[in-house]
Amino acid sequence: MKMLLILLVGSFWVALVAYVLWYFFKAKTVHPLTLDDMALTWRVHKQRDGCSASRIHSMIKENDEVVGFRCECGFEFVQKRLITQNPKERQVSVSTIQKQIQKQLPNHQRDS
Ligand SMILES: [Zn+2]
Repeated sequence: MKMLLILLVGSFWVALVAYVLWYFFKAKTVHPLTLDDMALTWRVHKQRDGCSASRIHSMIKENDEVVGFRCECGFEFVQKRLITQNPKERQVSVSTIQKQIQKQLPNHQRDS
């Protein structure tokens, strides 16, 4: 009976350690950046920093995935999203920005 308890506690700890290791490994991975995200981030940088560059100098890649970019002015952006941050929150903010952009378009037709 005591042996069974030790086995149970032991396997619980093994599972917990494995989970924690997985959690921290996943949390450190860099997430790829979509072209839309990149264009948006670049526009925000130009507006915020008063940058007058006409194009992005180069893209920053990691494992064949675009994770960031370098602006002609020297500005560098690398997307690092942690698993601990709520991914839903980010989806909401991106769609909110897209709605705002649509509102600014002169030919935008509202659904009535
Ligand atoms: Zn710039």
